Amino acid sequence: MHIKKKTKIIATIGPSCSSSNTLRKMILAGVNVCRINFSHTSHEDASKVISIIRKINNELSLQTAILGDLQGPKIRLGLVKKNTILKSGDKIHLTNTHSESTNKKLFINYSRLMKDIKLNDLVLIDDGKIKLKVRSVNQKTISCDILNGGKLSSNKGVNFPNTELSFKSITKKDKIDLNFLIKQQVDWIALSFVRTSRDIIMLRDILNQKKSEIKIVAKIEKPEAVRNIKSIMRSSDGIMIARGDLGIEIPMQKVPIVQKKIIKLCLSYSKPVVVATQLMEGMIQNSITTRAETNDVANAVFDGADALMLSGETAVGKYPYKVVKAMTKIILSVESSNLKLTTKLMLPRKKANNRYISDSICFYASEISNQIQSKAIITLTHSGYNAEKIASNRPNSFIYVFTHNKKILNTLSLFWGIYGFYYDKFNSTDQTIKDLHAFLKRKKILKSGDIVINIGSMPIMEKGMTNMLKVGSIT
Ligand code: PEP
Repeated sequence: MHIKKKTKIIATIGPSCSSSNTLRKMILAGVNVCRINFSHTSHEDASKVISIIRKINNELSLQTAILGDLQGPKIRLGLVKKNTILKSGDKIHLTNTHSESTNKKLFINYSRLMKDIKLNDLVLIDDGKIKLKVRSVNQKTISCDILNGGKLSSNKGVNFPNTELSFKSITKKDKIDLNFLIKQQVDWIALSFVRTSRDIIMLRDILNQKKSEIKIVAKIEKPEAVRNIKSIMRSSDGIMIARGDLGIEIPMQKVPIVQKKIIKLCLSYSKPVVVATQLMEGMIQNSITTRAETNDVANAVFDGADALMLSGETAVGKYPYKVVKAMTKIILSVESSNLKLTTKLMLPRKKANNRYISDSICFYASEISNQIQSKAIITLTHSGYNAEKIASNRPNSFIYVFTHNKKILNTLSLFWGIYGFYYDKFNSTDQTIKDLHAFLKRKKILKSGDIVINIGSMPIMEKGMTNMLKVGSIT
């Protein structure tokens, strides 16, 4: 019964939902991926959460994935003197020499501040609520005009939307967190503040050196990343539209356009895409969602997102279970409507790559599935390639994926429409297909008479090419 929606839910785990009981309820209500945000979590707490999720997976035969989100080079204010208020029209200095911030001088925790900031750059503090403009730069301080003032408090985030920052993409803290995540063998790692594909390649090199195959999600939250989206997409395994920081770094009204463009591009590259932040923000405090939030969630589903991410709503909100239930309801309402997603099947390019045969089988499996209204497309895969390809076609039916590769099994939970199962009893093609049908029937996922499509490779599980498509019905 867990399998009911195609668009997946990622829930950020925090103090509001880290007990075994709440996590179990949230997973049963529709959470497919649990995100641990290393901006706010200790290794000790993360270990506890990971072992609870794995226990729930074992007990309920589920494949809930774990996504470790690295903080990256987030720039923040240091300590701020109590009751500090900045007045619009006043001047203020910025420094990176450690001190308490006041309404005359702000300490910012960025060592290359003096090197990177230029005249007329904008400085946005606390989600852009406070806005400064740089008027002069010298070796020790930067002088700014306060364009929008406001109340200032400690540790608030600072963004420089029109500055090319020269920070390292993987910080010392990220490296320590990364080692932890590799040891814990999590399924996905998200990299924050990605600017170019080099950032992803650097992370991949570290993973390769440690013989880890953890998949990488690039968080798109900087204008450089939007500009370099194609190369970032090619080098990463998935994309997150991190609308929180993105909505500060680029004009907020551009975010919906970027969201639609990136989702479309991800579908054409067969890369999973996550829409993140403030989807149901009001439910941090309130037990029901707003009409506007309901529409935002529904529109992200219509756009074709693989997964929608809850942040504060589940991590620190009052209603972590209710918010998941509410999001599931909206997703199901859209998916069961007869309105089409704003995506369409993409014809595979002829001999465009060495997998053009697999790509064609996946494309036509999706086409046939829509045509004959099959209940499922069932695949056998080693790498997950054919499953991901089919998911990016957004067929009408669910995609049930059988693999003997334990490393990819849980990663599949982030993809649109895919539900994965472990399978290692390979037989003749016909016998294996019968076996998979019997399994899905036993699990009450399919019933006698359901029309399904099987794809895989013949001889069975020959790596590297999907060359078989068979239409049949469950007996
Ligand atoms: C975001 O900025 O939207 C985001 C998901 O990143 P974080 O929660 O790490 O700030």
